[in-house]
Amino acid sequence: MLRVDRLVKRYNKVAAVDNISFEVVAGETVALLGPSGCGKTTTLRMIAGFANPDAGIVSIADQDVTPLRPYERNIGILFQDYALFPHMTVRDNVAFGPQHRGVPKAEIPERVDKYLDLVGMAAMADRYPTTLSGGQQQRVALARAMATEPGIILLDEPLSALDAKLRERLRIELKQILKTVNAAAIVVTHDQDEALSLADRVLIMSEGRILQNASPSEVYHKP
Ligand code: ADP
Ligand code: ADP
Repeated sequence: MLRVDRLVKRYNKVAAVDNISFEVVAGETVALLGPSGCGKTTTLRMIAGFANPDAGIVSIADQDVTPLRPYERNIGILFQDYALFPHMTVRDNVAFGPQHRGVPKAEIPERVDKYLDLVGMAAMADRYPTTLSGGQQQRVALARAMATEPGIILLDEPLSALDAKLRERLRIELKQILKTVNAAAIVVTHDQDEALSLADRVLIMSEGRILQNASPSEVYHKP
């Protein structure tokens, strides 16, 4: 579904992402795990189209999307610097993507309800984001990322802003939700437990490179 082929991104001649390649298939969740500064977010931003690679190709369903603008890629995004629109209700936040991608008007309410239901936020459709807790806002942001029914979902530290207890609960739910929508998902995290419990496969990054591409059980059994 998604293929990243020999991607490179340099800032001031230093490679933030240094020749990385991997694939994610439909229905699979892959974690990008590594310490702060190892290139995880830069990788996601290139896949999303927010940053231009210096070399390499991003392809989706065998189409080279590297030259395409973000909105031309079939990708749902949950990034930290990509907050909910504060002046719009929960419902309008989730409807925004479908409205701007040509989903017929008559189908949008049903679409919005479906994804608010999936994240357990249907009862709060008419609220404004600032009246919600952090965890509730994350749920809505997830519904918004899924509402265009993208083939690919990118999540940058989706649970890091939450307290430990809520993080654990949402982790389990997030895993189930990602399975339900059957997208190719990439979750960026610096938290090993989160990577191991959420993902079908873990890519361990260090200094812009992928050191290991393994199943969670293989990572567990690493000496
Ligand atoms: P991570 O997400 O793993 O914390 P990043 O991808 O954010 O890592 O950053 C990787 C490296 O690239 C870091 O050294 C960071 O300072 C640098 N970097 C990222 N974005 C920029 C940018 N826009 N300009 C300059 N340097 C950047
Ligand atoms: P690109 O040219 O690849 O599209 P930019 O260089 O325009 O990316 O940077 C995009 C974003 O990265 C900006 O919002 C900028 O504030 C942020 N940024 C700048 N320097 C760094 C850094 N050292 N680490 C992480 N992010 C950074």
